[in-house]
Amino acid sequence: MAQSDEATLREALADRYRHVERIGLNELASGNLSVRFGDGMLISPTGATAETICAGTIVRTDLDGAHEGPRRPSSEWRMHAEIYRRCPDAQAVVHTHSDNCVALSCHNRPLPGFHYLVGTFGGPDVPCVPYSTFGGEDLAEDAAAALADRTACLLGSHGMISRGRSLDEAVTLAHRLEIMCRQYMLALTIGEPARLTDEQWREFFDRYAALSYGQP
Ligand SMILES: [Zn+2]
Repeated sequence: MAQSDEATLREALADRYRHVERIGLNELASGNLSVRFGDGMLISPTGATAETICAGTIVRTDLDGAHEGPRRPSSEWRMHAEIYRRCPDAQAVVHTHSDNCVALSCHNRPLPGFHYLVGTFGGPDVPCVPYSTFGGEDLAEDAAAALADRTACLLGSHGMISRGRSLDEAVTLAHRLEIMCRQYMLALTIGEPARLTDEQWREFFDRYAALSYGQP
């Protein structure tokens, strides 16, 4: 891949990292972002903040974690790498500890199909994978397995992770999941909300597939 492509991707990644902080999904720099690049990825460095991140601090690494330069990749690089390995569609990955995703994940509960937009993550719910230690292979395996047929999942007692066909799409999915976890918990305050039925999901996915047809 040409150098200019790498420079453009580095700028875009730093810009989206700052954006994710601005919209409140990345308080105290708890999240990390990456884009697929060649056989590996470009990923935000460990210790990144919205104030210090720039194109030059982004780390280029292969999917085994081998990297160049003085900075180390985010401690969560294994999750990103495993998702790129298993999901050929994934061009970008976003991981956050956003408030409402964390709140639901700390009950180890999936986001159920209480609203039709849950379906935009690829199925009738957004699963929550079991807790395991950050940065570890178990967490990477579990997250990547969940993202085989979803574009996002919750991480038990931890946060969320999303994958997109572009960086903007992965960021939008992270933002939407945060909004929908907030809305679900708001609905829960007056009782457990209804779920869409199988028939309603069938109709939703038929219509959604027709609308998405031809999109990149
Ligand atoms: Zn994390």
